Amino acid sequence: MRLHEYQAKQIFENEGIPIPDGEIAQSPEEAEKIAEKLDERVAVKAQVHVGGRGKAGGVKIASSPPEARTMSEKVLGMNLKGRFVEKVLVEEAAEICQEFYIGVTLDREQGQPVAIVSSEGGENIEKIAEERPDAIAKKHINYAYGLQDFEAREILYKANIPKNMVREVSSTLKLLYSVWKKTDAEDAEVNPLVMTEQNNLLGVDAVLNIDDSALYRQKNLADLREETFEDELEAEASEKEFDYVRLDGNIGVIGNGAGLVMTTLDLIDHYGGSPSNFLDVGGGAKAEILSEALEFLLRDDQVDVVLLNIFGGITRCDEVARGINQALEGKVPIPLVVRLAGTNGEEGRKRLTNNVNIEKSLEDAVKKAIKLVEENK
Ligand code: GDP
Ligand code: MN
Repeated sequence: MRLHEYQAKQIFENEGIPIPDGEIAQSPEEAEKIAEKLDERVAVKAQVHVGGRGKAGGVKIASSPPEARTMSEKVLGMNLKGRFVEKVLVEEAAEICQEFYIGVTLDREQGQPVAIVSSEGGENIEKIAEERPDAIAKKHINYAYGLQDFEAREILYKANIPKNMVREVSSTLKLLYSVWKKTDAEDAEVNPLVMTEQNNLLGVDAVLNIDDSALYRQKNLADLREETFEDELEAEASEKEFDYVRLDGNIGVIGNGAGLVMTTLDLIDHYGGSPSNFLDVGGGAKAEILSEALEFLLRDDQVDVVLLNIFGGITRCDEVARGINQALEGKVPIPLVVRLAGTNGEEGRKRLTNNVNIEKSLEDAVKKAIKLVEENK
């Protein structure tokens, strides 16, 4: 689970990591007020779960409260890499002299946490990691002993952190490790960790991803979940038992098993159609989940035809047919094509409500769905 920057910053600050003063705004007016209160140049930053917000136009610097207002007008409501911006963080802007990177993550191969530091932090860290891996220093951390002072200093020397900053960066790195451990994090990262013109250290950006499997014992963090979706259907789908991804076509697709669904999407594309979504009800899906999935697609205006591709294995086709009938309640609001094969296939096909199009092969089902889209234009 990924936290927003402002949530991560709060947690980092509670641990003692230096963080700029700031507050969240949901309107340009609020942003202006916060800027007045801070009485400083401010950074206006989109709070969405994507990286690289700066380059995508989601981070702006304003030198006065009215400017903070105009900047927020631009950022609030914008679509940032597919995410709708509902909130901005308005905080004191740093006078940046140098940008560092510090992070703690889990090295799964070694089964150990690893601290990562670079004196060339900022927006290009990924490119630097790729092109000049030497510019990035790493050190595994012994989980029993934690990150020792001498180890922290060793990695900072390797990373060429300026001598006068080593003491402070070292203690910040240790605090970051302690947050990482306490919160059951997968990644904790400050990028950039900034040396200001006044030689102070400031965490200008913060990332904290919590291991989903640990949320049962991190209740306070679990409560911070704030998903942003492209639309209401995606938000709703996230609470269901099936996996759903919105696409931009008009053929609704339901299948059992991710591979089967991907194949269906590829075939639709191959025959010149366009799928409206990926929807996998899972291998052993019960009739109820299938019924829920179908009802869900029928409510989507974007969908003109629904194609169900079910291969009965653990899931029996007669069960599937029951689920489909249950969702339709005798009415078929838009054309429905069903490919039903495998365990109890014959019985399933017989059980299906009339007026649905039944095909035995996947190819025929796909061609039929595309034809129906054409006919219903
Ligand atoms: P990201 O692009 O999502 O990682 O967002 P960041 O918070 O890291 O911001 C991107 C870049 O904007 C940083 O690397 C900084 O160079 C710049 N930036 C962010 N906040 C400030 C600030 O307060 N002052 C200044 N001068 N630059 C900032
Ligand atoms: Mn960043």
